[in-house]
Amino acid sequence: MVFHNTLSFAQELDRTDPLRHFRDRFYIPERDGKSLVYFCGNSLGLQPKAVREAVNAELATWQHLGVEGWFEGETPWLSFHATCKEALGQIVGAAPSEVCPMNALTVNLHLLLASFYQPTPAKYKILTIAGDFPSDQYALETHVAFRNHLPADAIIEVAPRPDGLIHTSDIQRAIAEHCESLALIWLSGLNYYTGQVYNMAAIAETARHYGIPVGFDLAHAIGNVPLRLHDWGVDFATWCSYKYLNGGPGAVSGIFVHEKHHDQNLPRLAGWWGYQEENRFAMTKGFVPMRGADGWQLSTPNIVALAMHRAALSITAEAGMPQLRRKSEQLTGFLEHVLLDAGFGRSDEAGSLPYQILTPADPNQRGCQLSLLVKASGRALFDRLASTGIIGDWREPDCIRLAPNPLYNTFEEVWQVGETLRSSSVG
Ligand SMILES: *Cc1c(COP(=O)(O)O)cnc(C)c1O
Repeated sequence: MVFHNTLSFAQELDRTDPLRHFRDRFYIPERDGKSLVYFCGNSLGLQPKAVREAVNAELATWQHLGVEGWFEGETPWLSFHATCKEALGQIVGAAPSEVCPMNALTVNLHLLLASFYQPTPAKYKILTIAGDFPSDQYALETHVAFRNHLPADAIIEVAPRPDGLIHTSDIQRAIAEHCESLALIWLSGLNYYTGQVYNMAAIAETARHYGIPVGFDLAHAIGNVPLRLHDWGVDFATWCSYKYLNGGPGAVSGIFVHEKHHDQNLPRLAGWWGYQEENRFAMTKGFVPMRGADGWQLSTPNIVALAMHRAALSITAEAGMPQLRRKSEQLTGFLEHVLLDAGFGRSDEAGSLPYQILTPADPNQRGCQLSLLVKASGRALFDRLASTGIIGDWREPDCIRLAPNPLYNTFEEVWQVGETLRSSSVG
């Protein structure tokens, strides 16, 4: 698409946007009676209006049925999690049996490492990327130490190139180089800092070639970029639902376990909620897991959190990932256009420009988010955006992240960002 940096062009795109009505399904935060330009859905998605009703419905069930709510009511709580599976499967490219909403992301990572990280004296290393999200780093570090390995020895990090990005081929080369000692590959599918999407299909194929299990953190990928976890042969994954899935602060996470592992009786840290549902309340000795991802559940789920998750999830599923992706490519492409017009350069351009877009230009290597490196008075620029009602987020020491969300952001808002930057003497 050829973009024009004018208000009328932006308004025309909004007028013909097939997803434009989805904005009305969300509360847009306001300041002084004016809607904020909220480009921070990569950190906390906005509240869908349907969430309050969904929570109230479960509070009413509790009020009227008490403990019988587990077995009665519109959605008996016992199988509430199962009502999220269809939509989750659609969004990550998996069969319903391969996914289950549960816990929180980092908790799930430890549980999945308990199953998929099976070190032997010769093969005990984990390959990951340098500078991945801190929680993932801490989880790997402590989990490896918990299994009596030294993190500095057992964790191999693939480093970024001078442009700040990590090439898929560098990850594949590292897998080949260390194949004799690797027990596991774990990394974010979409880098929280740079906004770069790695070629998960290619990484999974290389991992399979060498017989090494591979898992992805999809915190920034789910609901943002197309995923086909089953077809790609990814072994396992986890995500959170408070970013692009708009499930609310600290919303329930979820896991993916590939079907090929469902009959393997993998080792795990179990609890009664992962026990075969038919006989769970017989309370007998000896753990018998449910088949599929459900068998990794531990505890009684938080039904209010699941209700919020389901209400938000159904909006993403209704819009459909192919449609969301189409609009997202245009929105982010337009944002890139107005940034370049306002004096930003690309990070792969020679020299160190004061204002650069760090995120790759290739749409296949990015989602909604563009990360801006602002070396010259970046914090002041960020504050100026915030003072005019444009909400992104700031990462020390010099990065602004902006993520227009195709569910509730508009082309006019993107145009507004460009105008503000142009009047802020960038370039
Ligand atoms: C947001 C995010 C997390 C957050 O983990 P929680 O356990 O939900 O706090 C973890 N990893 C990545 C890559 C993230 O982007």
